[in-house]
Amino acid sequence: MADNHDDPLNAVDTPTPRRKPKPEVPSIGGRELKPSTLMMGLGYDASLSEGSLKPPIFLTSTFAFENAAAGKRHFEGITGKRPGGAEGLVYSRFNGPNQEILEDRLAVWDGAEDALCFSSGMTAIAVLILAACNAGDVIVHSGPLYAASEGFVAKVMAKYGVTYVAFPAGASREELDAVMKKAKAMAEEQGGEVPLIYLESPGNPTNALVDIEAVRDARDAHFDADRCPIAIDNTFLGPLWQKPLDHGADLVVYSLTKYVGGHSDLVAGSVSGDKKWIDAIRALRNTMGGIADPNTAWMLLRSLETVELRMQRAGENAAKVCAFLKAHPKVEGLGYLGMIENARQQDIYDRHCLGAGSTFSLFIKGGEAECFRFLDALQVAKLAVSLGGTETLASHPASMTHLSVPEGRRAELGIADNLVRISIGIEDPDDLIADFEQALEAV
Ligand SMILES: *Cc1c(COP(=O)(O)O)cnc(C)c1O
Repeated sequence: MADNHDDPLNAVDTPTPRRKPKPEVPSIGGRELKPSTLMMGLGYDASLSEGSLKPPIFLTSTFAFENAAAGKRHFEGITGKRPGGAEGLVYSRFNGPNQEILEDRLAVWDGAEDALCFSSGMTAIAVLILAACNAGDVIVHSGPLYAASEGFVAKVMAKYGVTYVAFPAGASREELDAVMKKAKAMAEEQGGEVPLIYLESPGNPTNALVDIEAVRDARDAHFDADRCPIAIDNTFLGPLWQKPLDHGADLVVYSLTKYVGGHSDLVAGSVSGDKKWIDAIRALRNTMGGIADPNTAWMLLRSLETVELRMQRAGENAAKVCAFLKAHPKVEGLGYLGMIENARQQDIYDRHCLGAGSTFSLFIKGGEAECFRFLDALQVAKLAVSLGGTETLASHPASMTHLSVPEGRRAELGIADNLVRISIGIEDPDDLIADFEQALEAV
């Protein structure tokens, strides 16, 4: 993504089409409209679609040019022969109307210049990392990461000669300085650079927070900011409760499968940030594919209309449920951002977060057997992995999502046998409390 990294990508002869110039974020009498208002119209012109109030789903693999000269003009724009980029749509591996509207609206939530949608959160993460790295490079990342992200960095990128240095979420500025120095020395030895700092905050399933501002300061002290963007997986708190671009991150990554999609009925991902970073990632997406399909993009447009409502309700529900759980005699503790017990973590929370979210860990007195009895007794909450949906979900990370993590590493990350991960939905909060109460009785 930095200038030494973009040669192979920018040389790729694949277009970067746009349906029309990016929409200005509308304002009324100098008042900038809020994201929750813009989700109902931004980026869509009904007059281009027979007056259809809602965007149709554009099921097509390719787009007809108005005439041959227009086709030439589009390709001149996208191959850089003429500045300004493409003026029209070309081919559905590159983009389509539903995806472009979605990207415009995703960018609004993050306060980003541009955004890209992908067929899954992991596709977004993989394409971002591949676009950033050359052989010999060293990735700096926080830990723990989502297991597949950690595997992608450690195992897949290793095949291409890219190594990594990990630091624990919560690391101080001094610890971060040491990490950056180590990464720089490794990169020099391997003939590469440090092209990417990759964060996940809060971490899964412990909710450990990363100090994004401290990471930015450490990055600025040791590397050229124009060659080493900071990307962050904001799936657990975004787009409502954490705005990482305001705190020094350059790129925000989502599994849209979770809160943004919000109904546990689709899989998708996104990356947003400044155009200079996004363009390099788009070039690789154009080459590889991996864009969200039109139907999924359309479903996400519907989801975005209610994302604020849903997240607010889920957050309020989680606060009520956690207040009940905390006082229960069979509960050992909670990993909930509304009840942090560590001064360093509380300080990061106060600076970075606008809400405590609705996904947390519940530590039940006992171990796996007690957790299983609790999970099997739930009647309203469903027993499933994933999070951020309208329905409340509960799972046992040590035996499910994190089963493949070696026991020692699990202990290090705080993934105990008595930990149940809960994602609170938008049900009636008292019904949820009644459900957890009867399930705890069964323990
Ligand atoms: C689910 C998840 C992912 C992966 O997203 P998919 O849409 O399943 O590919 C990445 N990061 C976090 C934090 C997640 O929760």
